[in-house]
Amino acid sequence: MPTADLHLHTHHSHGTADVAAMVQACLDRGIQLVGMTEHAPRPAGFRYPAEEFQAHVLQQFSQYVAEVLAARQAFPQAEILLGTEVDYVAEHEDFFEQFLQSAPFDYTLGGVHFIGPWGFDFAQAEWDVLDEDARRAAYLDYYALVAGMARSRRYTVAPHVDLVKIFSRETHARFLDSADGRRAVGEALDALAQAGMLLEISTAGLRKPCREIYPGPTVLGWAMERGLACCPASDAHAPNQVAFAFDTLTAYAREHGVEGWTVPGPCHAGQSGRRRLPL
Ligand SMILES: [Zn+2]
Ligand SMILES: [Zn+2]
Repeated sequence: MPTADLHLHTHHSHGTADVAAMVQACLDRGIQLVGMTEHAPRPAGFRYPAEEFQAHVLQQFSQYVAEVLAARQAFPQAEILLGTEVDYVAEHEDFFEQFLQSAPFDYTLGGVHFIGPWGFDFAQAEWDVLDEDARRAAYLDYYALVAGMARSRRYTVAPHVDLVKIFSRETHARFLDSADGRRAVGEALDALAQAGMLLEISTAGLRKPCREIYPGPTVLGWAMERGLACCPASDAHAPNQVAFAFDTLTAYAREHGVEGWTVPGPCHAGQSGRRRLPL
């Protein structure tokens, strides 16, 4: 079982608990390396329908940072990393540059949840009305954004790299079988490898309509061919999701040739602190 969980949220966005409760949940499950990765604010114009948490995040982010720093004192038996999950969107380089300097982050997740202004991981109904061609166009746009995120060289980890399958796993599988799919995903994975980014393997997909770990077997296989290093994550938004299905995660990783986890470490004085942990 992994002793690290590198993707954890709190009630400062749309989770249910504070930092201390998430750290305690980690320790209760044998997770000693705790990666807190609260959602970052987004540039204006990028929001989900009926979303309330963006205003909340803007207000609360400094409180989140303060709680993570305080938890390091309160839980000396854990190693607690200060991270954030950014919603990468193209053409907002200044926004992210400025945000990433606002706190002493140890590492960052380069999340892609928006295609243009569309928060594509919000609603099944928005995918149900798309035909196969429209879905394939969305997949192509998505993987181009993942490649752009990697090329920006601002992020440490690529989270849920095939998130775009969330509401259409079967269509997405056919896309992966096509020449276009292989090329688009291959280019994104090449960009991740060139940027030296870590690939997250996340059990969150098991809780979503796609019912499949991110990334799925085909994409993970292509990532392994490129030598990408992997880190473990649950994307927990509540204490009872911490280390969710990590026994399944371990078996899945081993089956696909992952020999150990690579995790970020405290990032200061130019050191990345990256190291290997057993599966
Ligand atoms: Zn995400
Ligand atoms: Zn997340």
